[in-house]
Amino acid sequence: MEAKIIDGKAISNRIRESIKQKVEELKNKGGPTPELDVILVGDDPASEVYVRHKERAFRQAGMNSNVIRMDADTHQDAVLEQIERLNNDKNVHGILVQLPLPPQIDPRLIINAIDPKKDVDGFHPVNAGRLMTGQDCLEPCTPKGIIRLIQETGEQIYGKYAVVIGRSNIVGKPISLMLLQNDATVTICHSKTSGLEDICRRADILVVAIGKPNFVDNRFVKDGAIVIDVGINRVNNKLIGDVNFQEVKQKAGWITPVPGGVGPMTITMLLENTLQAAMRNE
Ligand code: NAD
Repeated sequence: MEAKIIDGKAISNRIRESIKQKVEELKNKGGPTPELDVILVGDDPASEVYVRHKERAFRQAGMNSNVIRMDADTHQDAVLEQIERLNNDKNVHGILVQLPLPPQIDPRLIINAIDPKKDVDGFHPVNAGRLMTGQDCLEPCTPKGIIRLIQETGEQIYGKYAVVIGRSNIVGKPISLMLLQNDATVTICHSKTSGLEDICRRADILVVAIGKPNFVDNRFVKDGAIVIDVGINRVNNKLIGDVNFQEVKQKAGWITPVPGGVGPMTITMLLENTLQAAMRNE
Protein backbone atom coordinates (compact mmCIF):
# COMPACT_ATOMS: atom_id res chain seq x y z
CA MET A 1 0.00 0.00 0.00
CA GLU A 2 1.17 3.52 -0.75
CA ALA A 3 2.44 5.67 2.13
CA LYS A 4 0.30 8.40 3.61
CA ILE A 5 1.79 11.85 3.07
CA ILE A 6 2.60 13.95 6.12
CA ASP A 7 1.50 17.34 4.83
CA GLY A 8 3.91 19.72 6.57
CA LYS A 9 2.42 22.71 4.82
CA ALA A 10 -1.14 22.08 6.01
CA ILE A 11 -0.02 21.17 9.55
CA SER A 12 2.17 24.23 9.61
CA ASN A 13 -0.65 26.53 8.47
CA ARG A 14 -2.87 25.20 11.23
CA ILE A 15 -0.21 25.81 13.90
CA ARG A 16 0.52 29.30 12.49
CA GLU A 17 -3.17 30.19 12.78
CA SER A 18 -3.17 29.21 16.45
CA ILE A 19 0.09 31.15 17.07
CA LYS A 20 -1.49 34.21 15.46
CA GLN A 21 -4.42 33.97 17.87
CA LYS A 22 -2.10 33.64 20.87
CA VAL A 23 -0.13 36.71 19.72
CA GLU A 24 -3.40 38.61 19.45
CA GLU A 25 -4.40 37.55 22.97
CA LEU A 26 -1.00 38.58 24.33
CA LYS A 27 -1.29 42.02 22.75
CA ASN A 28 -4.92 42.42 23.91
CA LYS A 29 -3.95 41.91 27.51
CA GLY A 30 -1.28 44.61 27.21
CA GLY A 31 1.65 42.28 26.54
CA PRO A 32 4.44 42.98 24.07
CA THR A 33 4.41 42.34 20.33
CA PRO A 34 6.88 39.45 20.00
CA GLU A 35 9.90 40.53 17.97
CA LEU A 36 12.60 38.57 16.18
CA ASP A 37 15.79 40.32 15.10
CA VAL A 38 17.82 38.57 12.41
CA ILE A 39 21.47 39.39 11.74
CA LEU A 40 22.36 38.71 8.12
CA VAL A 41 26.03 39.03 7.22
CA GLY A 42 26.92 39.09 3.52
CA ASP A 43 24.72 38.39 0.52
CA ASP A 44 24.36 34.62 0.23
CA PRO A 45 21.31 34.19 -2.07
CA ALA A 46 19.89 31.17 -0.19
CA SER A 47 20.15 33.07 3.12
CA GLU A 48 18.36 36.03 1.54
CA VAL A 49 15.47 33.73 0.56
CA TYR A 50 15.27 32.16 4.05
CA VAL A 51 15.28 35.55 5.73
CA ARG A 52 12.55 36.84 3.42
CA HIS A 53 10.38 33.79 4.24
CA LYS A 54 10.91 34.39 7.95
CA GLU A 55 9.99 38.08 7.66
CA ARG A 56 6.78 37.23 5.84
CA ALA A 57 5.78 34.53 8.33
CA PHE A 58 6.35 36.89 11.28
CA ARG A 59 4.33 39.65 9.67
CA GLN A 60 1.46 37.26 8.94
CA ALA A 61 1.45 36.06 12.57
CA GLY A 62 1.20 39.64 13.83
CA MET A 63 4.76 39.64 15.17
CA ASN A 64 7.61 42.03 14.45
CA SER A 65 10.72 41.05 12.58
CA ASN A 66 13.72 43.21 11.95
CA VAL A 67 16.67 42.34 9.73
CA ILE A 68 20.10 43.81 10.46
CA ARG A 69 22.17 43.58 7.30
CA MET A 70 25.95 43.66 7.58
CA ASP A 71 28.59 43.59 4.80
CA ALA A 72 30.33 40.32 3.94
CA ASP A 73 33.66 41.71 5.21
CA THR A 74 32.25 42.77 8.60
CA HIS A 75 34.61 42.16 11.51
CA GLN A 76 33.47 39.61 14.09
CA ASP A 77 33.55 42.25 16.85
CA ALA A 78 30.95 44.31 15.01
CA VAL A 79 28.57 41.31 14.97
CA LEU A 80 29.23 40.72 18.68
CA GLU A 81 28.40 44.38 19.37
CA GLN A 82 25.07 44.02 17.58
CA ILE A 83 24.27 40.91 19.61
CA GLU A 84 25.11 42.73 22.84
CA ARG A 85 22.80 45.57 21.86
CA LEU A 86 19.96 43.16 21.04
CA ASN A 87 20.55 41.19 24.27
CA ASN A 88 19.90 44.42 26.17
CA ASP A 89 16.90 45.57 24.14
CA LYS A 90 13.68 44.75 26.03
CA ASN A 91 11.62 44.94 22.82
CA VAL A 92 13.61 42.15 21.18
CA HIS A 93 12.52 38.65 22.27
CA GLY A 94 14.35 36.52 19.73
CA ILE A 95 17.80 36.85 18.14
CA LEU A 96 18.86 34.79 15.17
CA VAL A 97 22.14 34.95 13.30
CA GLN A 98 21.60 33.56 9.80
CA LEU A 99 24.10 30.83 8.97
CA PRO A 100 26.44 30.29 7.17
CA LEU A 101 28.66 33.18 8.23
CA PRO A 102 31.64 34.47 6.21
CA PRO A 103 34.95 32.74 7.05
CA GLN A 104 36.38 35.55 9.24
CA ILE A 105 33.55 35.01 11.72
CA ASP A 106 33.50 32.09 14.18
CA PRO A 107 29.88 30.87 14.36
CA ARG A 108 30.41 29.26 17.79
CA LEU A 109 31.59 32.52 19.32
CA ILE A 110 28.62 34.32 17.81
CA ILE A 111 26.03 31.77 18.98
CA ASN A 112 27.57 31.69 22.46
CA ALA A 113 27.15 35.48 22.73
CA ILE A 114 23.34 35.35 22.32
CA ASP A 115 21.35 35.55 25.54
CA PRO A 116 20.04 31.95 25.94
CA LYS A 117 16.59 33.36 26.79
CA LYS A 118 16.51 35.00 23.33
CA ASP A 119 18.16 32.09 21.49
CA VAL A 120 15.07 31.14 19.45
CA ASP A 121 17.14 28.89 17.18
CA GLY A 122 17.99 26.80 20.26
CA PHE A 123 21.67 26.56 19.28
CA HIS A 124 23.25 28.09 22.41
CA PRO A 125 25.10 25.54 24.59
CA VAL A 126 22.82 26.41 27.52
CA ASN A 127 19.75 25.41 25.51
CA ALA A 128 21.56 22.40 24.00
CA GLY A 129 22.61 21.31 27.52
CA ARG A 130 19.12 21.79 28.90
CA LEU A 131 17.74 19.72 26.02
CA MET A 132 20.32 17.02 26.72
CA THR A 133 19.34 16.86 30.39
CA GLY A 134 15.60 16.97 29.73
CA GLN A 135 15.05 20.48 31.11
CA ASP A 136 12.72 23.13 29.78
CA CYS A 137 14.47 25.09 27.00
CA LEU A 138 14.17 26.78 23.64
CA GLU A 139 14.32 23.74 21.38
CA PRO A 140 15.97 23.89 17.93
CA CYS A 141 13.29 24.52 15.32
CA THR A 142 13.83 21.77 12.73
CA PRO A 143 13.89 18.84 15.20
CA LYS A 144 11.01 20.37 17.18
CA GLY A 145 9.02 20.50 13.93
CA ILE A 146 9.91 16.89 13.11
CA ILE A 147 8.53 15.64 16.44
CA ARG A 148 5.28 17.51 15.71
CA LEU A 149 5.06 15.93 12.26
CA ILE A 150 5.51 12.45 13.69
CA GLN A 151 2.90 13.16 16.38
CA GLU A 152 0.49 14.28 13.66
CA THR A 153 0.51 10.77 12.17
CA GLY A 154 -1.21 9.57 15.34
CA GLU A 155 1.45 6.86 15.67
CA GLN A 156 3.21 6.50 19.05
CA ILE A 157 6.93 7.31 19.26
CA TYR A 158 7.05 5.41 22.57
CA GLY A 159 8.82 2.06 22.23
CA LYS A 160 9.63 2.49 18.53
CA TYR A 161 13.05 1.93 17.00
CA ALA A 162 14.22 5.21 15.44
CA VAL A 163 17.23 5.66 13.18
CA VAL A 164 18.62 9.11 12.41
CA ILE A 165 21.05 9.57 9.52
CA GLY A 166 23.16 12.68 10.18
CA ARG A 167 24.83 13.95 13.36
CA SER A 168 24.84 17.73 12.92
CA ASN A 169 24.29 20.02 15.91
CA ILE A 170 21.23 21.57 14.29
CA VAL A 171 19.37 18.45 13.14
CA GLY A 172 20.89 14.99 13.71
CA LYS A 173 21.98 15.24 17.35
CA PRO A 174 18.99 17.19 18.72
CA ILE A 175 16.36 15.09 16.91
CA SER A 176 18.03 11.95 18.30
CA LEU A 177 17.75 13.35 21.84
CA MET A 178 14.14 14.38 21.33
CA LEU A 179 13.19 10.94 20.01
CA LEU A 180 14.94 9.42 23.02
CA GLN A 181 13.00 11.72 25.36
CA ASN A 182 9.85 10.51 23.66
CA ASP A 183 10.84 6.94 24.62
CA ALA A 184 12.10 5.72 21.27
CA THR A 185 15.20 3.54 21.07
CA VAL A 186 17.58 5.55 18.92
CA THR A 187 20.54 4.84 16.66
CA ILE A 188 22.51 7.74 15.15
CA CYS A 189 24.21 7.04 11.81
CA HIS A 190 26.66 9.22 9.90
CA SER A 191 29.17 9.23 7.06
CA LYS A 192 31.46 6.71 8.81
CA THR A 193 28.70 4.23 9.75
CA SER A 194 29.15 0.77 8.27
CA GLY A 195 26.16 -1.33 7.28
CA LEU A 196 23.93 1.74 6.97
CA GLU A 197 21.25 0.07 4.86
CA ASP A 198 20.84 -2.83 7.28
CA ILE A 199 20.53 -0.50 10.28
CA CYS A 200 18.00 1.74 8.52
CA ARG A 201 15.93 -1.20 7.31
CA ARG A 202 15.09 -2.04 10.93
CA ALA A 203 13.78 1.46 11.70
CA ASP A 204 10.14 2.11 12.55
CA ILE A 205 11.01 5.81 12.30
CA LEU A 206 13.71 6.91 9.85
CA VAL A 207 14.90 10.52 9.93
CA VAL A 208 17.19 11.48 7.07
CA ALA A 209 19.33 14.64 7.36
CA ILE A 210 22.33 14.19 5.11
CA GLY A 211 22.21 16.73 2.28
CA LYS A 212 22.50 14.24 -0.62
CA PRO A 213 19.68 14.16 -3.18
CA ASN A 214 17.67 10.91 -3.35
CA PHE A 215 20.26 9.09 -1.19
CA VAL A 216 17.73 6.90 0.61
CA ASP A 217 15.82 4.41 -1.53
CA ASN A 218 13.74 1.33 -0.75
CA ARG A 219 16.76 -0.70 0.32
CA PHE A 220 16.95 1.48 3.45
CA VAL A 221 13.29 1.31 4.36
CA LYS A 222 11.20 -1.13 6.40
CA ASP A 223 7.63 -1.81 5.28
CA GLY A 224 5.28 0.67 6.93
CA ALA A 225 8.03 2.90 8.41
CA ILE A 226 7.60 6.60 9.14
CA VAL A 227 10.14 8.36 6.89
CA ILE A 228 11.05 11.98 7.59
CA ASP A 229 13.09 13.68 4.87
CA VAL A 230 14.94 16.73 6.21
CA GLY A 231 17.17 17.20 3.17
CA ILE A 232 16.94 20.27 0.97
CA ASN A 233 19.02 19.96 -2.20
CA ARG A 234 18.76 22.27 -5.17
CA VAL A 235 19.08 20.24 -8.39
CA ASN A 236 18.40 21.90 -11.76
CA ASN A 237 16.56 24.66 -9.94
CA LYS A 238 14.26 22.18 -8.19
CA LEU A 239 14.20 21.28 -4.49
CA ILE A 240 14.95 17.60 -3.92
CA GLY A 241 15.03 15.74 -0.61
CA ASP A 242 17.50 13.15 0.64
CA VAL A 243 14.88 10.44 0.11
CA ASN A 244 13.80 9.05 -3.25
CA PHE A 245 10.17 10.00 -2.64
CA GLN A 246 8.59 8.20 -5.62
CA GLU A 247 10.23 4.91 -4.73
CA VAL A 248 10.02 5.04 -0.94
CA LYS A 249 6.37 6.05 -0.86
CA GLN A 250 5.58 2.57 -2.26
CA LYS A 251 7.05 0.98 0.86
CA ALA A 252 6.81 3.40 3.80
CA GLY A 253 3.71 3.85 5.95
CA TRP A 254 4.15 7.62 6.20
CA ILE A 255 6.45 10.00 4.37
CA THR A 256 7.18 13.74 4.27
CA PRO A 257 7.48 15.36 0.82
CA VAL A 258 10.14 17.89 -0.22
CA PRO A 259 9.16 20.65 -0.50
CA GLY A 260 6.15 20.87 1.83
CA GLY A 261 7.30 18.57 4.64
CA VAL A 262 9.84 19.54 7.28
CA GLY A 263 10.71 22.93 5.70
CA PRO A 264 7.52 24.86 6.56
CA MET A 265 7.59 23.46 10.11
CA THR A 266 11.03 24.95 10.78
CA ILE A 267 9.79 28.52 10.37
CA THR A 268 6.59 27.68 12.26
CA MET A 269 8.63 26.49 15.24
CA LEU A 270 10.66 29.71 15.03
CA LEU A 271 7.41 31.64 15.41
CA GLU A 272 6.46 29.43 18.35
CA ASN A 273 9.84 29.87 20.05
CA THR A 274 9.72 33.65 19.64
CA LEU A 275 6.23 33.75 21.13
CA GLN A 276 7.43 31.51 23.98
CA ALA A 277 10.41 33.82 24.62
CA ALA A 278 8.17 36.91 24.59
CA MET A 279 5.71 35.36 27.04
CA ARG A 280 8.51 34.29 29.40
CA ASN A 281 10.20 37.69 29.39
CA GLU A 282 7.09 39.81 29.67
P1 NAD B 1 25.43 18.66 7.76
O1 NAD B 1 26.14 18.77 6.47
O2 NAD B 1 25.85 19.47 8.92
O3 NAD B 1 25.42 17.13 8.21
C1 NAD B 1 25.21 16.10 7.32
C2 NAD B 1 25.32 14.80 8.06
O4 NAD B 1 25.11 13.76 7.14
C3 NAD B 1 26.68 14.57 8.71
O5 NAD B 1 26.49 14.27 10.07
C4 NAD B 1 27.27 13.40 7.96
O6 NAD B 1 27.97 12.51 8.80
C5 NAD B 1 26.04 12.72 7.38
N1 NAD B 1 26.36 12.08 6.10
C6 NAD B 1 26.92 12.64 5.00
N2 NAD B 1 27.08 11.70 4.05
C7 NAD B 1 26.62 10.54 4.56
C8 NAD B 1 26.53 9.22 4.05
N3 NAD B 1 26.96 8.92 2.82
N4 NAD B 1 26.00 8.28 4.84
C9 NAD B 1 25.55 8.58 6.09
N5 NAD B 1 25.62 9.81 6.60
C10 NAD B 1 26.15 10.77 5.84
O7 NAD B 1 23.90 18.89 7.39
P2 NAD B 1 22.64 19.42 8.24
O8 NAD B 1 22.82 20.84 8.57
O9 NAD B 1 22.29 18.46 9.33
O10 NAD B 1 21.54 19.31 7.09
C11 NAD B 1 21.24 18.09 6.45
C12 NAD B 1 20.25 18.35 5.35
O11 NAD B 1 19.06 18.89 5.91
C13 NAD B 1 20.70 19.40 4.31
O12 NAD B 1 20.17 19.04 3.05
C14 NAD B 1 20.07 20.68 4.78
O13 NAD B 1 19.85 21.59 3.73
C15 NAD B 1 18.77 20.16 5.33
N6 NAD B 1 18.15 21.01 6.37
C16 NAD B 1 16.85 21.26 6.23
C17 NAD B 1 16.19 22.01 7.17
C18 NAD B 1 14.73 22.26 7.00
O14 NAD B 1 14.21 23.18 7.56
N7 NAD B 1 14.03 21.42 6.24
C19 NAD B 1 16.88 22.53 8.27
C20 NAD B 1 18.23 22.22 8.40
C21 NAD B 1 18.86 21.44 7.44
